Amino acid sequence: MGLFSKVDGLNVLHLFPQDRIVSQMRERYLRVLQCNKNKGRIIVMIKDHLKFLELAFEEATLAESEGTYPIGAVIVDNEGKVVSRGRNRVFTQEDCTAHAEVDAIRKAGHILLDTTNKRFKKNDLTLYTTCEPCPMCTCTILLSGIKQVVWAADDDEYGAIRRMKEGPHFINQFNTINYIASPSLDLENKQRKMLKEWNIRRGIVNTEWEAK
Ligand SMILES: [Zn+2]
Repeated sequence: MGLFSKVDGLNVLHLFPQDRIVSQMRERYLRVLQCNKNKGRIIVMIKDHLKFLELAFEEATLAESEGTYPIGAVIVDNEGKVVSRGRNRVFTQEDCTAHAEVDAIRKAGHILLDTTNKRFKKNDLTLYTTCEPCPMCTCTILLSGIKQVVWAADDDEYGAIRRMKEGPHFINQFNTINYIASPSLDLENKQRKMLKEWNIRRGIVNTEWEAK
């Protein structure tokens, strides 16, 4: 974690690229962000998270236009370089496993794997996704070695990372993954609206994805 200091009377957490932040501190970050009174590095970091979530939404919009779940993902290295992009392809490829996170991880194989030495590379990658990863994607993230996940909208039905980190199974493995849950209410509601409209278009009317 970075260091706290006071800037204009606010507690500001100065983060460095290798720092990982946890969702329990979300309120503090948002308060700092909304106050927008200082140029602390925390603000830069939050804006970066939102910027990459927006890129994931570009993929979600493509998936939507193609006629499948409007969910997208991007994987970013610790220097802010996007190393892969993915989107849901379940109905476009007739593949139940073609979730956005899995799609992005498949495309990042050259970054994740050392094929010469038959090992997983050490990485400091962050996966950004528009929706909280399901159990399949959560386990795929674990097996990929990705260390941080940021998502726009919580999924109370299928979202798995928070539940798996609570244990009791594989708790040591899941302790290697940090997450930031829904850092922006606007982006959370953007995803919820897209999923609600997707459901309505295919004749499913429920209240699961109402705005928060
Ligand atoms: Zn999934």
